[in-house]
Amino acid sequence: MENNLMIYNTLTRKKEKFEPVNPPFAGLYVCGPTVYGDAHLGHARPAITFDLVFRYLKYLGYQVRYVRNITDVGHLTNDSDDGEDKIAKKAKLDQLEPMEIVQFYTNRYHKNMEQLNTLPPSIEPHASGHIIEQIELVKKILENGFAYESDGSIYFDVEAYNKKYDYGKLSGRRIEELIANTRQLDGQSEKHNPADFALWKKASPEHIMRWPSPWSNGFPGWHLECSCMSQKYLGDCFDIHGGGLDLQFPHHECEIAQSTAAYGHEAVKYWMHNNMVTINGQKMGKSLGNFITLDQLFSGDNKVLEQAYSPMTIRFFILQAHYRSPLDFSNEALKAAQKGYERLMAATSALDKIKATPENTVDIDGLATKCREAINDDLNTPLLISFLFDGVRTINSLIAGNEKINEENLGKLKKLYHDFVFEILGLKAETEAISQDHQVLGKILDMVMAIRTEAKQKKDWATSDKIRDELKNAGVIIKDTKEGYEWSLEN
Ligand code: ZN
Repeated sequence: MENNLMIYNTLTRKKEKFEPVNPPFAGLYVCGPTVYGDAHLGHARPAITFDLVFRYLKYLGYQVRYVRNITDVGHLTNDSDDGEDKIAKKAKLDQLEPMEIVQFYTNRYHKNMEQLNTLPPSIEPHASGHIIEQIELVKKILENGFAYESDGSIYFDVEAYNKKYDYGKLSGRRIEELIANTRQLDGQSEKHNPADFALWKKASPEHIMRWPSPWSNGFPGWHLECSCMSQKYLGDCFDIHGGGLDLQFPHHECEIAQSTAAYGHEAVKYWMHNNMVTINGQKMGKSLGNFITLDQLFSGDNKVLEQAYSPMTIRFFILQAHYRSPLDFSNEALKAAQKGYERLMAATSALDKIKATPENTVDIDGLATKCREAINDDLNTPLLISFLFDGVRTINSLIAGNEKINEENLGKLKKLYHDFVFEILGLKAETEAISQDHQVLGKILDMVMAIRTEAKQKKDWATSDKIRDELKNAGVIIKDTKEGYEWSLEN
């Protein structure tokens, strides 16, 4: 497949042709969740954005290694160097082991990601599983003179680094303003400069997540894990690093500084950042009362929601916006997305009804070119989807007999929708899948209920009651009606 993909590089602030460091391999690293709570709307967008990148690079024929980490240590409250570990805090609250919290929320995150039809990453490394490698990286940065020890903790020396390299190049922040804007916090006296950040922190007596190191019993700084694990699995020069725009500073800025300090050169060729989500124009937050988890979104169980929205509606909604644009969730917008998604899926499944004719009045190559150009232009999915809707009108005209299509073009049209809708955008027909299961279950129930009726007629109450009780145990609710029976599933 010819590669004409242009992506916007946040580091250079321009669109660049995607040329991997080591073709046919392509490396993609994405900052994953800190697993101390249920996945929410804010998690859906980067997951779907970089699933699209993963899917499209694979579609282009690259051998993609997609690494998405699990942050299970070192991410402190307020993203600071002095807060409590988010995982340990939740563990204390729930009276569980920190790793029980990690496992519980990782499992739930995986379930949500599967519902959204995102492909699992090739490698999903945990920060806590790479303490030794992180300690080695700290040693390297110390050796190179870009870090210092202070009472058992190791801090990155931003000023020393900035003399040789450029701290702030990703976020555009200047070191002077960073110093001016940093609040004086506890432990600040340990730092030579308020802009410095922790690579290793000595654990206080009450801090339970701790490991031995040459400097102290402690734990790695939050930013360190991504520099370390991306290098371990993708090399010290790899293709794409992704994440939400909220991670650009300080997390990614610090990652660049750490990797450059350790290896003497940049590790990442293309930085990609998805924009944030808002809810009814407001930032999402627990304190604002508009915090929506993905489970709540799929069940409708949240006062902000007027109804439940299916995972594919959410996926379609996110893809309908460009990943670099802000995206506002509202019931109106979600309902419109649901209609759009259903219309696209209906047209895609109606393709099978079209019969080829010797005559042809439609241009499929032109449509395919437009779709490819849209996705190649920094993954312009809203434009791509609008072209797919142009095609929906063509499909409907073909079914109505107002247009004609020959055998060759019909094959191209089917491939176009299969490739773009299912493989690249990663949508799937969820309502049909559910109704198919329901249909099979309905047939089995008809059979079981016929046996029950027979038993009743023979006054075999034992069998009849057994069937009723067993169905109840299996979560099937049966209601006898004049016409026969009705059934539903518990919840
Ligand atoms: Zn990261």
